[in-house]
Amino acid sequence: MIIIMKQGASPANVETVVDRVEELGYKVHLSRGEATTIVGIIGADEHLLQRATFEVMDGVERVMRVMQPYKLASRDFSQADTEIEVNGVTIGGNRIVVMAGPCSVEGREMILELAHAVKEAGATILRGGAFKPRSSPYSFQGLGEEGLRYLAEAREQTGLAIITEVMSTDDLALVGEYTDIFQVGARNTQNYSLLKALGQANKPVFLKRGISGTIEELLMSAEYVLSGGNMQVMLCERGIRTYETATRNTFDINAIPVLKQLTHLPVVADPAHGTGKWDLVGAVSKAAVAAGADALMLEVHGDPGRAWSDGAQSITPDRFANLMRELRPIAGAVGRSI
Ligand code: PEP
Ligand code: MN
Repeated sequence: MIIIMKQGASPANVETVVDRVEELGYKVHLSRGEATTIVGIIGADEHLLQRATFEVMDGVERVMRVMQPYKLASRDFSQADTEIEVNGVTIGGNRIVVMAGPCSVEGREMILELAHAVKEAGATILRGGAFKPRSSPYSFQGLGEEGLRYLAEAREQTGLAIITEVMSTDDLALVGEYTDIFQVGARNTQNYSLLKALGQANKPVFLKRGISGTIEELLMSAEYVLSGGNMQVMLCERGIRTYETATRNTFDINAIPVLKQLTHLPVVADPAHGTGKWDLVGAVSKAAVAAGADALMLEVHGDPGRAWSDGAQSITPDRFANLMRELRPIAGAVGRSI
């Protein structure tokens, strides 16, 4: 349930409402917008509504029950788009943010070189996996902490923010020492203990859609993080498993405008995992920008043929720089910059 305060309601009005809700034993989430403040009541039900008539309280505009199973993630909860600030970069604002880098951190020189190259071409966030969720236990599993150290060094040298995957609650503290954004991979989107732990974290969470996950399941996963008190969540369409075999996954372009309707959280597109093919990444990136994505995640590798993971869907730094140039007019056509 949410209580929408009137424009110009005083801080004392808001406090009185919050005190009343807490007195009844419920947790509150406050969302202070430019014009109005919204008091979100977590876990509220009919019982609460019977015990208090918030509509008559000073400064209250109206009380709304959010019908969707996800509440804090819902567009009803916040009409304004959520903006997430990371190292001076805003995700969810007018400028489309580009996160780029290799699938896996393979070594120090490699990540430093790629960091400089993607920055030069216009990326503002460096991606790179140090803990890798591989389908086979015999495949490269990531450099672990060594990889995190190299990412941090790349951030120091370039000023780029970094994003890297956290696969387990066991690694949360370690990954948190280095990363600016926690990436939750498609295989972990419904790892509810990880999501709950991230709800207590004070860094943004980048949540990928599950391999066979519905949009509603993705929003429910976001709700786990939000309801823990961490409101810095972004959602990523990375393709889903369908009967189609021409591509690794089927990139669900619909998910972008659907998510923009259903939620205030930033929406990211990942055309690399969405297609699995480097020569399709450009077309799908352009489509995603046109469809309203707030950010792109791209896999870039200096020598894709020798990449330790996901070489087939990785583009070279030159191709990445060209793609950035091609994306600019498309972003402009939909009223954005990149
Ligand atoms: C990745 O970003 O390299 C990755 C493993 O992605 P996903 O979880 O979408 O498969
Ligand atoms: Mn990958």
